[in-house]
Amino acid sequence: MVEIQDYTKALDILKEYSSGDGLHVDTLLDSDKHGALTYNDFLVLPGSITFPASEVSLETHVTRRFTLKAPLLSSPMDTVTEHNMAIHMALLGGLGVIHNNCPADDQAEMVRKVKRYENGFILDPAVLSPTATVADAKQLKAKLGFGGFPVTEKGTLHSKLLGIVTSRDIQFHNQLDDPVTAVMSTELVTAPAGTTLAEANEVLRSSKKGKLPIVDQDGSLISLLSRSDLMKNIYYPLASKVQSKQLLCAAAVSTHEVDKIRLQKLVDAGLDIVVVDSSQGHSLYQIAMIKYIKQNFPQIDVIGGNIVTREQAAALIAAGADGLRIGMGSGSACITQEVMAAGRPQAAAVRSVSSFAARFGVPCIADGGVQNLGHIVKGLALGASTVMMGSLLAGTTESPGDYFVSNEGQLVKAYRGMGSVAVMEDKTKSGSNAGASRYFSENDKIKVAQGVAGSVVDRGSITQFVPYLVAGVQHSLQDIGVQSLDALRDGVNNGQVRFEMRSASAQTEGNVHGLHSHEKKLYA
Ligand code: GDP
Ligand code: 5GP
Repeated sequence: MVEIQDYTKALDILKEYSSGDGLHVDTLLDSDKHGALTYNDFLVLPGSITFPASEVSLETHVTRRFTLKAPLLSSPMDTVTEHNMAIHMALLGGLGVIHNNCPADDQAEMVRKVKRYENGFILDPAVLSPTATVADAKQLKAKLGFGGFPVTEKGTLHSKLLGIVTSRDIQFHNQLDDPVTAVMSTELVTAPAGTTLAEANEVLRSSKKGKLPIVDQDGSLISLLSRSDLMKNIYYPLASKVQSKQLLCAAAVSTHEVDKIRLQKLVDAGLDIVVVDSSQGHSLYQIAMIKYIKQNFPQIDVIGGNIVTREQAAALIAAGADGLRIGMGSGSACITQEVMAAGRPQAAAVRSVSSFAARFGVPCIADGGVQNLGHIVKGLALGASTVMMGSLLAGTTESPGDYFVSNEGQLVKAYRGMGSVAVMEDKTKSGSNAGASRYFSENDKIKVAQGVAGSVVDRGSITQFVPYLVAGVQHSLQDIGVQSLDALRDGVNNGQVRFEMRSASAQTEGNVHGLHSHEKKLYA
């Protein structure tokens, strides 16, 4: 070969190659050639960096109608997502799906807590009547978790505002039988009906009051604004919200007939997105449930799953699914592939389903098998709009359950597959009103487990962990040379973003190796 002396020609010479370096995604995932792949089997090749990582947008659809600023979901599992996880996932830009292994009323209560956590105008504030006592106010505060109650003549909205009882008014007031009128503040700053949210927030800011009641020309209470919501807005700029400024909320239901009652309760509590939770989503039951939801609750979006093939996707899209959840047997606590001989390696499943669903504009969730930040990027690069995690989030402060010290002296939290015998036994104990029907049906004589129960190590709070994941994905997209998730998907489809297979020894090379010892700290 003749050596080219003119270095400036390097970029022109590059054009002589018929394609970019590395592999197109379709070649990478051609299972005829090398079997089906999963996340560890490949890498994304770097592109060129032309913008700062902080300018990478991770905005993405989670369903047809709802978008998130961070493509991260927490799984509907009873060791992962209850209201605390759901609130914090939404505040941080993602979404928590509240599990259904509990009585329907408990799940609806959790939805209510998420929806009440943050507000613009609170349109149905808790209101007291003048005859309510200090004891009543204390009780209500303990039940609802906040203590700023307007007092009106009739004790309802649309009645003349008399004052506000705040937490400080009742905190040290020991005459519990006193009426609230004896302790309430009556020097109120209010704003008139028609005030915009921005104007009202400005009044709150300048008045330094905790609450701003909005009243009509007769002085009747119409709605309420809370200063703490203003603060949450400042601290959580990525928060996933609906138009009312409330946090976006999702919850799971099973395909069983009785869960239609559960769903009604969840919708009454303000649910935005329902996840129909089946381990094999392509069933008559799920198709019927999706159709029922679309017909009866057009205001909420429905996510179907779990699925791993194009055929399954087509069935759920035809039934009306607004989003799909991909994964069968890839979860960390899962033994489905071993015992059912059914499933699909996650990378192959994500590519196959999401490239089909994209033709209908249906966003997909890559669910399960995410062990690290790189796996999130790979799921997104293969076409998923969002990624769902169980084990990675189960060890955080916001997951249900308490930390305990393992036999090896490590701080851990319980994590269990929803198809584990442990869940099945709890379900039997708690009665038929409980959910968790994803893997077991009441009629099964022998219940075949598809998951295990174990524990995961402490990961601290998701208020640090999720921002680490977000910043990490931004840096990764910067390395790949794409400035948004849309650009990533386009680049993958048009062949500009390239891939490489990893041999077993390449995988060893890609991990820490050859050190006598090391400490793996993921972020600082
Ligand atoms: P408080 O001073 O005890 O009322 O508590 P904070 O002001 O810290 O918190 C009130 C939070 O509860 C805000 O985020 C409100 O949006 C939320 N919230 C939800 N529903 C209501 C309601 O009916 N009344 C009040 N006061 N707050 C509500
Ligand atoms: P992880 O993030 O822990 O790898 O996976 C979480 C996902 O595993 C869940 O979102 C769910 O789809 C799946 N999963 C949860 N429990 C079980 C189970 O018992 N068996 C199986 N096959 N999958 C499970």
